[in-house]
Amino acid sequence: MAPITYVSTRGAAPELGFADVLLAGLAIDGGLYVPSQWPSLTVGAFERFESMSYAEIATEVMWPFVEGSIERDAFAAIVHDAYATFATDEVVPIVDLGDNFWLAELFHGPTLAFKDIALQLVGRLFDHELTRRGEKVTVVGATSGDTGGAAIEALRDRPTAEVFILHPAGRVSDVQRRQMTTVLSPNVHNIAVQGTFDDCQDMVKALFADDQFRESRNLSAVNSINWARVMAQMVYYVTCAVRLGGGAGRPVAFSVPTGNFGNVFAGYGAQRMGTPISQFIVASNRNDILTQFLTTGTMTIGEVHPTLSPSMDIQVSSNLERLLFEIHGRDGAAIAELMARFRSEGTVSVSGDRLELLADHWSAARVDDAQTAATIATEFERSGMLLDPHTAVGLAAARQARADASVPMVVLSTAHPAKFPDAVEAASGVRPPLPEHLADLFDRPEHFEVCANDFATVRGLIEATLDKS
Ligand SMILES: *Cc1c(COP(=O)(O)O)cnc(C)c1O
Repeated sequence: MAPITYVSTRGAAPELGFADVLLAGLAIDGGLYVPSQWPSLTVGAFERFESMSYAEIATEVMWPFVEGSIERDAFAAIVHDAYATFATDEVVPIVDLGDNFWLAELFHGPTLAFKDIALQLVGRLFDHELTRRGEKVTVVGATSGDTGGAAIEALRDRPTAEVFILHPAGRVSDVQRRQMTTVLSPNVHNIAVQGTFDDCQDMVKALFADDQFRESRNLSAVNSINWARVMAQMVYYVTCAVRLGGGAGRPVAFSVPTGNFGNVFAGYGAQRMGTPISQFIVASNRNDILTQFLTTGTMTIGEVHPTLSPSMDIQVSSNLERLLFEIHGRDGAAIAELMARFRSEGTVSVSGDRLELLADHWSAARVDDAQTAATIATEFERSGMLLDPHTAVGLAAARQARADASVPMVVLSTAHPAKFPDAVEAASGVRPPLPEHLADLFDRPEHFEVCANDFATVRGLIEATLDKS
């Protein structure tokens, strides 16, 4: 097979190879890159996976997507190093919850949320490619909590990147802030903006929109629309199917706590490659635009409501565009029109026959804060296990919407309970302790700049820092 290239969901950007897609993030037509074809995993591959480690399976699953951009040995070494940072050898352990419900723990990486699975790999791939090119980038990102910490941890001490993360001052949890601000590497710069997450996000967008700044400073992003992040997330769908389905084509189902749709779209990719997945449950909190869409075919942007599961407090799920592209027969012009209408009118519908393409495998469920807290309490009483609020949304949705009790239902556990200690303690009466490698997090010195909610000031701070470094 010829190396895979990547096409934009809006059909009007150049087709690129993996390394260019990695560094570009968004396509120049505003679309998202997707592989020009989905490679397939044979039944024989699943049988071989049964005796392999997570990193070995990961190398096999991802290789067709990167072939042509990197040497096989270098890629295998990068994958190995990325997953060696996890606290368990299994990388993603699977826990039996009884009644054929299972928990896949995606949170054993350095910052305790599933974003580490993608970013530990992507940070290393960035570094490898930039070193090869002899280039250096300025990574600028806004975070409402989990992404900033995972990006900092992935890029700290790398000579190829200068990293600026903007967070809303006083509006991220103490654990989340300290995971960012206690990293004292010289290439990491935390800016606490005296505004909201949206203000931070708007400033990042404005920096990217400034051609002169973007080009002179070689700006780059590691946000969730980057194809390489989706690619890394396909792997655990495969490993769960290998462990629970026995590899021989027996199906498994997944319930996925969903925000930007990157995680569950990775499941779709794994399914297209031949992983036997019979059901996806898209689990949402009160911000249920995706439940609306999957049940009616229409989505309308509303206000964002703060909930106990803040990483899912989102209205527009960027990665949904990739699934829309697939159910529209990969017609980029149709998607460009659809997204333009969504942006101008705040609402969009797909036809019944398009939606019908999702009917066999896709379900959605909405779980409010009261149900989330009740799920944490019930699971703690039943098994003594503490769930973080995002995982609890996934488990409650799985119990509501499971189609077939004879199929293993895997709930993706996206964060460690200690990352959201207040919500977990309020629901269960127990405060979850931080794991050993972060036990002294509250004793470590912090370093960050507080900055007025003013674009020129923030930009000036970034420029002055770059000029010194
Ligand atoms: C980012 C995040 C999510 C949402 O994942 P998406 O890929 O954006 O759908 C869910 N739970 C946690 C803990 C997260 O950090």
